[in-house]
Amino acid sequence: MPNIVKNTTFPNLLDLIAPHSCRSCGRLGSPLCDNCKNYIIANNINLCPACKTATPTGKCKKCRTLPSIFIVGKRDGLLDILIHDYKYNSVRAIGPKLAKLLDAKLPSDINQAIIIPLPTATHHIRARGLDHTHLIAKHLAKLRNYKVQNLLLRNKNTVQVGADRKSRLAQANEAFIINPKIKIDQNATYILLDDVWTTGASIRAAIKKLRQAGAKNIIVALLAVSSLD
Ligand SMILES: [Zn+2]
Ligand SMILES: [Zn+2]
Repeated sequence: MPNIVKNTTFPNLLDLIAPHSCRSCGRLGSPLCDNCKNYIIANNINLCPACKTATPTGKCKKCRTLPSIFIVGKRDGLLDILIHDYKYNSVRAIGPKLAKLLDAKLPSDINQAIIIPLPTATHHIRARGLDHTHLIAKHLAKLRNYKVQNLLLRNKNTVQVGADRKSRLAQANEAFIINPKIKIDQNATYILLDDVWTTGASIRAAIKKLRQAGAKNIIVALLAVSSLD
């Protein structure tokens, strides 16, 4: 692969004066050209985000409480740049590309699933000008003919407590509520969608909420797992 220049602060200058350029090879026209997209797809095996074991079927034999999880790749290199530019520089054109990467990773035989975007904190949406996870959900739903439901909502009554692991876990468990306006369909396949698995606390809390509410078939789709641990 060509050298990747990480752009952390400013939107790609080329995007302001010209069509998008591929974040990896620089080709004009799109923030991720087909060649580089196929490179990401071909070079990433599916792994369990919790224990990092390779999980070709999505289901980890060691982490039994977790449902099947599909991840595009580790958060490094090109994938990291795409996620960063999308999320923090609000480069909307990257959204459909990330959805395509998820489409390639998810099993092709899931019919009529309902995508549940993990709700983003309102202050992040305001600061970034877009609800990045919800937008990816919409792109993915279009590719797959799925539905998107805001079945999970942020629990507005949580208070910020300490930052140690225990407090973070306790906080995560209270982070979401089930949308009272939506009825759970026990026969539906729900795809819980989030961008990055870091500690996994939010995803685990969301899975727990959905199961408590009666959801039986849950799959998790993630763009990346943090490569730090
Ligand atoms: Zn390229
Ligand atoms: Zn595992």
